[in-house]
Order: sequence, then C-alpha cells, then structure tokens
Amino acid sequence: MRRQCIKVPKKKGEPVRRILLELEILDNSVKIGADQAFLYLPLTREPAPDELQSIPEGIELIEFDFEPQKKKPVPEDLLGFNPAYEVIGDIALLEDSELDNKKASRIADALLRTLPNIKTVLKPLTPVIGEFRVKEFEVVAGETRTETVHREYSCRYKVDLARAYFTPRLSTERSRILSWVKEGDTVVDMFAGVGPYSILIAKSKKPLKVLAIDKNPEAVRYLRENIILNSAKNIKAIEGDAREEAKKFAGTADHVIMNLPHNAFEFLDSAVLLTKPGGIIHYYGITPEDNLFESSIELIRTAAEKTGRKIEILEKRVVRSYAPHQYNICIEARVI
Ligand code: SAM
Repeated sequence: MRRQCIKVPKKKGEPVRRILLELEILDNSVKIGADQAFLYLPLTREPAPDELQSIPEGIELIEFDFEPQKKKPVPEDLLGFNPAYEVIGDIALLEDSELDNKKASRIADALLRTLPNIKTVLKPLTPVIGEFRVKEFEVVAGETRTETVHREYSCRYKVDLARAYFTPRLSTERSRILSWVKEGDTVVDMFAGVGPYSILIAKSKKPLKVLAIDKNPEAVRYLRENIILNSAKNIKAIEGDAREEAKKFAGTADHVIMNLPHNAFEFLDSAVLLTKPGGIIHYYGITPEDNLFESSIELIRTAAEKTGRKIEILEKRVVRSYAPHQYNICIEARVI
C-alpha cells in the first residue's frame, strides 16, 4: 500500500513518531516501515509547513510501500453480530439468560478466541435472587469455575459470583460515594458484599473507621480476604444482620451506605440510629419513573421523625435504568 511518509534516521525515529501522533497525522492502518538505517512513518496527509518546523532536521518526505496493519479480530468478526456480555475479572458473563445452548456455545467460543484475558464464560440461569442477591450460573466454556479477581480503581476484589453479589456496573457510583467521604470520617456500609464500597473508601480516604457489614457468610469470607489483598487499613468486616449490628454502633456514622436497593427502606430506622447528628445516609432504591424520589424521601423523613430528627436532602439522582420504567436511584439525606 503506497503512502506518503516521513523517512527519518532510526535514531531520530521515536521523537518524530511522537510528534506525528500529537499532530494526528500518523497513519495507523499500515505498519511502520524500516530498513537498516531508516524508519518510514506513514502519513494520513501531507504535513503543513508550520507543522514540519517542530520536526527535527534530516528527514525526507517520500512515498513508500507499506504492509497493512493486521487488525486483531473482535467477537463480532467471528459471529457477525455483537454479543451482549460483561467482564468481571477473567470471566465473561453473557447477559441474555434466554440464549439456547448452541448459540451460547458459539458466542463463548468467539469470546475465548478473541479476548485473551477471558478464561471462563458464564451464562446466568436466574436473575439476582434471595436475601444474599446472588445468581445461579452455568459454565458455558473455558475453566469450570465462578471465582475470579476483578480490578477496579486500583483495588482488587476476589469473588465467587455464585456465592456473593458483585457487579462492575456500579464502579462509577462507588467513586461518587467516595467523593462524599472526608479524612477522619466513620463510615458504615450496611450491605457491604465483598467490599467494593468499603475497601475503596478505606484505601483512598484515611477514614477513622469503616464498618463493613454483610449477612452472607460467603460474602464476608471474600470481604476479609479482599481487605488483606488490598492492604486496607481501619476497616472491620462484620458478619451479621445490619439491623442487629446497627444497635451496637448507634450515633457513630458520618456516612451510612445502604446498597440494598430492593429492601433498603426496611432498614431506614437502623440507618437513622447509626447516623450521628449531621451524618449522611446514602439511600438506594428501585423506583418507578413516575415517582422516582418522592416516596423514598417520605420514607426517610418518616424514619427520622420517629426519633425526633429531621432530614435535609442533599442530592438525588438516577444511578441506572433497572427494568422497563424502573430505575435504580440514590438519595443523599443529611440527618440532623
Ligand atoms: N454493596 C455491595 C456491592 O456493591 O457489591 C453488595 C450489594 S448487594 C446488592 C446487597 C448485599 O446485602 C448482599 O451482599 C447481601 O448478602 C447483603 N444483605 C442482605 N440482607 C442483609 C442484612 N439484613 N444485613 C446485612 N447484609 C444483608
């Protein structure tokens, strides 16, 4: 493939390549050419005279025959369509639980062949179910396991997806909650799972302490492992019912995280009890589009007023769409 290019002595090649990249005129569709003494840097267009000024002397503008760049295949190249999946650690999780075995195997094969980091492909057999919010899975291809280590914001979370809840889809949400926390704060994560809110906060904000509670013994086993894996300090993993644990830590929390969106409203009395005067509840809910926030705010207000306290709503927002006309929302309420 004949292209206009810059012929540059090999020693000066790298700085010139960088300049062309910055100018956005390096042609990435072909491989950079080379012989013993020179590099041939392909161009998408002729550089303007003023652009050439930034390029060191000793270069030539010539034409050269280049080899096309080999493009790494993506799953769509093998399948003819773009499959829906999410990546958790080295596991690809197919999103469509209705896929028949033949199609699931075809997709899994394409994922394993094109994504070198993926070692296992899972298909969910159920939605998130039960008190511990876990799914059941089938291993479609690859290594027969449901355990992996997922990296997020320089933290690592080991999790067995069939035993404890975890989703990478809340990563932005976790960093948003992090931005509310200040050094020296006490944080109670009432439904901590394997620790993605608690560990991120403990690692990033020098809190006085983080109490990470979960009722699922398997989640707490991974939470404890993840605390060690991330060398997180000032964090305590507690296996127990958030309602019972709240009684032991009444009035201590600057922040209470309530990431149990379907049932958080049932625990509002405990969240208020935990919150010190001026502390903030981060309340999650699943609500219909015609009543995104109002009913939830009323529930928080009622819980606070039961013990003579008031609330101030600091922020309310949609986290993500959950189902048709249903949204996962979050409300930040200060309890005075
Ligand atoms: N915050 C974690 C995350 O983002 O990955 C986990 C969220 S998951 C939606 C909710 C968690 O609440 C589950 O791990 C479940 O075991 C836990 N849970 C449910 N009921 C509980 C209770 N009464 N007390 C403490 N934890 C509970």
